[in-house]
Amino acid sequence: MTVFEMIINGDIPSTKIYEDDVCIAILDIAPRAKGHTLVISKKVYPTIAEAPYETIAHMMDIVKKVDQKMREGLNADGTNVIINNSPASGQEVPHLHIHVIPRFKDDGISFFPPSTEYADGEAAEYGRMLKI
Ligand code: AMP
Repeated sequence: MTVFEMIINGDIPSTKIYEDDVCIAILDIAPRAKGHTLVISKKVYPTIAEAPYETIAHMMDIVKKVDQKMREGLNADGTNVIINNSPASGQEVPHLHIHVIPRFKDDGISFFPPSTEYADGEAAEYGRMLKI
């Protein structure tokens, strides 16, 4: 059982800001910024790959509401919306969840500094490999 299932079942406490039949939203216990929220599916899907489109779409609707609330309630200037998928990405809890992190001008947080670059012609090659 994942830690999020225990939270959904009420077996361990959380600070809940939203709940419906599909998902809950709680504060992350180790916030990257105060107000850092997790929108968590009630059914367990390890990653976005296993989750049905309707669930993801619904969760993104709630993410949009959380983003709005962070702007209104916390005076946030922006948010980061992040999903880690599989351990290689840094995912610790194998239960679909979307991080929503409030951001403020000049808060000094940097999640995605560039860490590689393309050699000549390589971007086109990656473009071909990833073309959908
Ligand atoms: P991820 O690395 O995307 O799997 O993120 C898992 C997140 O869950 C981390 O940011 C943790 O701080 C958070 N987390 C773990 N246990 C709890 C808990 N009991 N209540 C709230 N957040 C939690």
